[in-house]
Amino acid sequence: MHFEPMNTLHQHGMPVTAQRLAVLRAVNSNPHATADHIAAFATKDIGSISKQSVYDTLSTMVERGVLRKIQPVGSVALYENRVGDNHHHVVCRSCGAVGDVDCAVGYRPCLSASHTHGFIIDEADVSYWGTCETCAKNRKQTVKQTSSKKSNSKKTTNKKRKVTT
Ligand SMILES: [Zn+2]
Ligand SMILES: [Zn+2]
Repeated sequence: MHFEPMNTLHQHGMPVTAQRLAVLRAVNSNPHATADHIAAFATKDIGSISKQSVYDTLSTMVERGVLRKIQPVGSVALYENRVGDNHHHVVCRSCGAVGDVDCAVGYRPCLSASHTHGFIIDEADVSYWGTCETCAKNRKQTVKQTSSKKSNSKKTTNKKRKVTT
């Protein structure tokens, strides 16, 4: 899929402005980024852009379906420009890293509910939770280090981690 920010704005009936283009470029090169991160990236890109206008642009783009906003439990809102394919996300419990996971079925709602309560269900929002590669590696190293030199307890232990049994 080629990234065409101008066309994207045209298709959604949004006038092309330097700020909108900068926001789209920022989201495209930082999928699942926070609004603050996008604002920082866009500022580096075009110089002057206020945080507030980045926030406004993001919410308009979400409303118009240009961007998708996701919010894993315990995380701030994240934005991406991969829209309309009902993909899901894998989230790292330790560092919050997020990855895309294609829809298991290929169309919504993807999962059938065991009980619909009479609702017409049109979407199942699936988050897969786990430990990313980097965190898994770091964890192994920490274990090695702590077992080899028990005396040196300067190592900062990782944040509270849910222990799965
Ligand atoms: Zn991680
Ligand atoms: Zn995604």
